[in-house]
Amino acid sequence: MTAYSSEAERKLSEYSKLVEEIGFCRKCDLWTNRIKPVIGEGTLDTAIMIVGLGPGRQENMEGKPFIGVAGRFLDKVLSFIGIERGEVYITNIVKCYPPGNRVYRRHIESCTPYLEKQLKIVEPAVILVLGSVAAAYFSEKYKVRLLPINRMHGVIVGIDMNHPRYIIPMYHPASACYNPGMRDIILEDWRRVTPLLRQYMRVRA
Ligand code: URA
Ligand code: SF4
Repeated sequence: MTAYSSEAERKLSEYSKLVEEIGFCRKCDLWTNRIKPVIGEGTLDTAIMIVGLGPGRQENMEGKPFIGVAGRFLDKVLSFIGIERGEVYITNIVKCYPPGNRVYRRHIESCTPYLEKQLKIVEPAVILVLGSVAAAYFSEKYKVRLLPINRMHGVIVGIDMNHPRYIIPMYHPASACYNPGMRDIILEDWRRVTPLLRQYMRVRA
């Protein structure tokens, strides 16, 4: 048995095993599109996790989440509410590039055991869930009935547990790229939930 000198070391060791495993994964057909897996980014020591759908073309090339057009808007949103990427942990439902964002149940079923491991390592208090596919996954997982995303965006949903304590469905930042009218709605949703995010960031700090 390995003796870890700290909780942070244990998390890091589990995380690096996960990174290695995903790098070789062929559990679903999405592996054939993979240039680099997009595992996640940020800090493991945070109370706030952000979960998108899956890497886009640019993310596939660089192995980092949300660095394309949608990612630039997400950066804007985060800077608007005064939170840095390095203060949160950002990942996706699937870790390999799904061309055209075509993510099917078989992909979700194959890949989310990795997300589950990430959730166990990070233990976030609040999960911001981007878009309807991710929202459907978390609603099933935590047995909460969510209304469609157009009724539920920015609504703080209490979960009867510590990790997470809340999930917050949000419009996916890519929707602001096809529909500029969404930008203000998305910014307002994030602004409204910022006090809750800050409260949990302080607790963990
Ligand atoms: N869209 C997502 O859902 N995730 C990314 O990482 C990039 C774009
Ligand atoms: Fe494995 Fe997930 Fe990639 Fe599918 S998407 S091959 S399950 S890492």
